[in-house]
Amino acid sequence: MQTERTIVLGAGFTGLGIATVADVPVFEAERFPGGICASYHREGFRFEIGGGHWIFGGDPLILRLFDRLVPLKFYRRRSAVFFAGGLQQTVHLRGRFVDYPLQNHLHQLGESEAQAALQSLLRAHRNGQEPVTMAEWLEKHFGEYLCELFFFPFHERYTAGLFREIAPQDPYKTPLQLEQVVAGTFGKSNSAVGYNVQFGYPANGLNVLAQKLAEPATAFFEKRAVHIDPDQKIVQFSDGSTTEYDRLVSTIPLNHLLRILGDEEQSLSEPYTSVLVLNLGVELPPSEHARHGYHWLYVPDSRTGFHRVGYYSNVDPAFLPEKYRDPQRYGSLYVEFAFRGGEKPVASVVERLMQQTAEELRDLGLIQTVLVADVTWIEVAYTWQRPGSRWVQEQRERLEKMDIFSVGRYGRWTFQGIADSFKEGLVIGGQIAALQRVPAGRAGMER
Ligand SMILES: Cc1cc2nc3c(=O)[nH]c(=O)nc-3n(C[C@H](O)[C@H](O)[C@H](O)COP(=O)(O)OP(=O)(O)OC[C@H]3O[C@@H](n4cnc5c(N)ncnc54)[C@H](O)[C@@H]3O)c2cc1C
Repeated sequence: MQTERTIVLGAGFTGLGIATVADVPVFEAERFPGGICASYHREGFRFEIGGGHWIFGGDPLILRLFDRLVPLKFYRRRSAVFFAGGLQQTVHLRGRFVDYPLQNHLHQLGESEAQAALQSLLRAHRNGQEPVTMAEWLEKHFGEYLCELFFFPFHERYTAGLFREIAPQDPYKTPLQLEQVVAGTFGKSNSAVGYNVQFGYPANGLNVLAQKLAEPATAFFEKRAVHIDPDQKIVQFSDGSTTEYDRLVSTIPLNHLLRILGDEEQSLSEPYTSVLVLNLGVELPPSEHARHGYHWLYVPDSRTGFHRVGYYSNVDPAFLPEKYRDPQRYGSLYVEFAFRGGEKPVASVVERLMQQTAEELRDLGLIQTVLVADVTWIEVAYTWQRPGSRWVQEQRERLEKMDIFSVGRYGRWTFQGIADSFKEGLVIGGQIAALQRVPAGRAGMER
């Protein structure tokens, strides 16, 4: 029987899923598995490369597998909108927390604001026009009032200004049920909605789970693919080595894949945003306000431009070093900023941003002293598409004809979490394993 060589690019959770099922070599650019789901330590503080990565959703059997490899702990989400007061329309709310989701807790804005927000939301629902962009989708669902107050400025920051030109994405992240909005206007709020009401996290860190998943795999690290010759079916790596393949499964971002195939023009087609994560180990001020206990805060109006502040230590004090393991006094935070793809700030700008962010968090009464600060950069963090775009579909179909399969969250240019990425990997791994059991070269689809 003719043997075919299938290889995989990337040992993130999609690549690890593939390697769990199929006996295929995986080539990973970094020294470690897990992709953007990787924990690391600085002076005893446990941080994550991509900010807090919590395992939400997930099929029960996948969660059991994870739990067998590294015990999972489960948490009930506590999150809120936090107004920093940096905009004219939010100055009066400076320092105020409103439980997530905002639309279900309108009474926390105060009576007259809640009434105005509700009326505007109900008016928007009577508008029959089909939204085309994300901004239009937000306005149709939440109304002008809440959009001005929160949704527009938040999405301005979160999408680095793209939300007026991209198609709506992931409505599940912003749940909306009118009965709950009305109940929340009059004080009967419901927080237990949305995609991550409960989430899990490996007791010893996400990197340990990735390492356990990678252990049985045939994985090669520090193998960054820099060029693919689709005619010769050869991948070249940054260390100068090469490997041949019959079928290439890529989990790296689609635009990067096109670039290393030499298709520079196509690789620039659809927008994406990068995320700068500022990881902080801090001493908290002695106030109730600073000890709010939320796992993360959505911020629409920060002066420095961050859109989310997460608290590793409010999820679990184990993120703190032993000598500071008192979440009433110390905290570990991740602060996220979005940038348009290709607009990476230079080191001096990042340095200034770090200082200004620490000052702003101090002014807001959220931190007292910074003990440790570290910055990470996720080049392709969120992928977007313009309305009606067929770029992803066309590129993936074109690649398939060359026996290159672009899969996973970034390969398909979509949104999904860790557990679903791993599940997609398992499905693809199953397909590869099934194909490997059947002699090649019989079907007309294959060249
Ligand atoms: C800011 C942010 C926060 C998130 N928070 C959560 C969360 O809380 N919970 C959740 O479930 N999900 C979260 N996600 C989503 C989650 O990170 C993804 O679903 C998951 O990481 C996708 O895994 P992947 O393997 O498809 O991609 P990746 O993790 O990106 O893996 C791709 C791998 O390919 C490697 N690679 C890249 N280029 C090359 C190359 N040229 N050659 C070889 N290897 C290469 C990379 O190093 C990487 O290891 C978040 C995402 C972002 C951006």
